[in-house]
Amino acid sequence: RPGMKNTLNWTTPIQFIKGIGPFKASLLKKMGIETVEDALFYLPFRYEDRSTIHKIAEPIPVNEMVTLCGEVRGVRNRITPRKYLKILEVALADETGVISCKWFNQPFLEKVFKPGQTVIVTGKVSKNPFEHFRPEIAPVSYEIVSREDDSDFGRDKIVPVYHETPGMTSKNFRTLIKFLLETNLFSEKEKLPPNLLHQYGFLSFASSLKEVHFPSTREGLFQLLEGKSIFHQRLVFEDFFFLEMGLALRKNKHKKENKGFSFPTGGLVDPKTGTLHGGGMEEKLLQSLSFQLTPAQKRVLNEIKEDMMRPFPMNRLLQGDVGSGKTVVALIAMLIAVENGFQACFMVPTELLAEQHYFNLTSLLAPFHISVGLLSQGMKKKEQAETLKEIAEGKTRLVIGTHSLIQEKVAFKKLGLVVVDEQHKFGVIQRMELKKKGESPELLIMTATPIPRTLALTVYGDLDLSVLDELPPGRKPVETRLYYERQRTSVYAFTESEIKKGRQAYFVFPLIEESQKVDLHAAVTMHQTLQKEVFPSLKIGLLHGKMKGDEKEKVMRQFKEREIQILVATTVIEVGIDVSNASLMVVEHAERFGLAQLHQLRGRVGRGSDQAYCFLIANYPMSEDAKRRLKAMVSSTDGFKLAEEDLAIRGPGEFFGTRQSGLPELRVASLLRDGRMLETARREAIGLLEKDPLLHHPDHAGLKEILLRRWMDKLDLLSTG
Ligand code: ADP
Ligand code: MG
Repeated sequence: RPGMKNTLNWTTPIQFIKGIGPFKASLLKKMGIETVEDALFYLPFRYEDRSTIHKIAEPIPVNEMVTLCGEVRGVRNRITPRKYLKILEVALADETGVISCKWFNQPFLEKVFKPGQTVIVTGKVSKNPFEHFRPEIAPVSYEIVSREDDSDFGRDKIVPVYHETPGMTSKNFRTLIKFLLETNLFSEKEKLPPNLLHQYGFLSFASSLKEVHFPSTREGLFQLLEGKSIFHQRLVFEDFFFLEMGLALRKNKHKKENKGFSFPTGGLVDPKTGTLHGGGMEEKLLQSLSFQLTPAQKRVLNEIKEDMMRPFPMNRLLQGDVGSGKTVVALIAMLIAVENGFQACFMVPTELLAEQHYFNLTSLLAPFHISVGLLSQGMKKKEQAETLKEIAEGKTRLVIGTHSLIQEKVAFKKLGLVVVDEQHKFGVIQRMELKKKGESPELLIMTATPIPRTLALTVYGDLDLSVLDELPPGRKPVETRLYYERQRTSVYAFTESEIKKGRQAYFVFPLIEESQKVDLHAAVTMHQTLQKEVFPSLKIGLLHGKMKGDEKEKVMRQFKEREIQILVATTVIEVGIDVSNASLMVVEHAERFGLAQLHQLRGRVGRGSDQAYCFLIANYPMSEDAKRRLKAMVSSTDGFKLAEEDLAIRGPGEFFGTRQSGLPELRVASLLRDGRMLETARREAIGLLEKDPLLHHPDHAGLKEILLRRWMDKLDLLSTG
């Protein structure tokens, strides 16, 4: 029968455990606890130090947390005459004296306490001036203990406290977990190889988990509370270790199964001397640019080339903050593919961006006689048919487009490289669809939404990662200021002075799905106000998603050519737009934007060497999160710092919009708290797999078992070979 101490396994439903049953199991299920394993990883959020239970008559330090234990003598509810506070008073006595325990506005507790019970309370003690300075305690926790259950009553123990749910008290959890910790599960052999344990000073799995639940000493209690004890660390390591090992195996498998092409003539830039070996088009392109590649760009380019030269397809994520110069890196990669007789395509999230890239690339590539094609929704039927034909015949070597690239009718002759720009705007599915247009093409994914490293290593852990961690020289950080609605006139005054200097400005409005009409109206109205009332002598443009393709194009061109000084826009300009003379970004209703979005918008200015500004105009009411976002924007221009802050505000699930599926759960580890350990675990996982790729070594048999259990059917790794 399952549930007997010696026949349990990790997936045994919790219902079969002694003292649980279907009712409690249904309560636990609501908390996400369904199996024995779930229960064992339900960790205490606090500990009570019962090794220091005070005697009631002892001098009790006022305003310090203490724990008292005594017998209930009396229980009464009363209401204070003036404030109508409901107070439940319990008189608690031990062999030295009596104290009054007071709970406010919890009258239902009257039914909980009965004279004669033994109760442990923890809280702060104070002396009540209205009651002759008699000491009283306001418990933050209480527990009814039974004298028979001696082990629970122990006065020399650190006792775990668990978050409760109706029907499951902290004490119920304690009993359950204590039972589970004594079962056959913990007679299993240690699974991590001994050298790892030794190297980091970790205890065995069993001891670590036991110590986290039932600490044997009060030493290190503080670290336990913070979740940073060596016992936690061991469990955190394990979470990350198996995650990273699975990701690495997945990555290796992908490489083995997909025979790609190798593009041998790319040439390599020597990062030290900057000289180029081999390659023709790249050299020519670099010479035609008005700038030198930054060292970061050179390094990343080399990483990409090494991938492209290998006989399996590249699968790389390129992260670089707004303005770090990803486009030129992608362009060179595309040239390498073209040089080798292949086609390359470049997918971007908006029409506007596609057009901008098309315009720039055609002029840059003019000397190369490479035919560049643009696929956009706004195209005339005939024009589109022609472009499609040329792509299919292989005449067009380089194709730029939006989602329209993944339509069925788009067929390539010989697609060798897929670049996806601003990856966060696309789903995984779209990325995969595009890849299917070729026979295992190389894949380069680019994103300017900095992903905190911890998340990149988990969510995108099966991609190789390149980071452009350096902006082109001479860029000054954008000066960011927060204004409130009533300060609008100073924003206008500043705008005017920038424009007098010959610069240009954006005014951006939020466009939120649910209230599109109202928002659009706001942008249109503001356009009129600015044009007619505020800056009648200037030319003000309007740009929003509802405009036709050629209208948008016209406005954008006028802005680029400085015929328009101020561009009022919705968030269509959020990504990628590059007009280096624009020096001021005014964000209206800044409180309604997400942090990543604000950072993207700010990235539209400061793209040259002159000082640029970002003014955030905020309106009340504002949520606490909004305040935090605005504060973060004003205090930092570092995309990675902002991403960390964004992660802290929203939590990992929200950060990606949807909960990422396909990865095993982290049971103890927290991406926010344990970033360091993630790096360590990743390094160890990769190192171990390099030595023993199929986990054949006897020391690694346990690893294999856990890996398969944790990843379940999400991985069919290790099955080959
Ligand atoms: P992002 O990474 O945001 O896509 P872009 O590729 O649009 O950035 O580049 C931003 C601007 O910086 C462009 O105007 C581009 O021409 C310029 N740029 C790119 N690399 C360099 C460099 N090494 N030195 C100077 N300017 C550069
Ligand atoms: Mg870009």
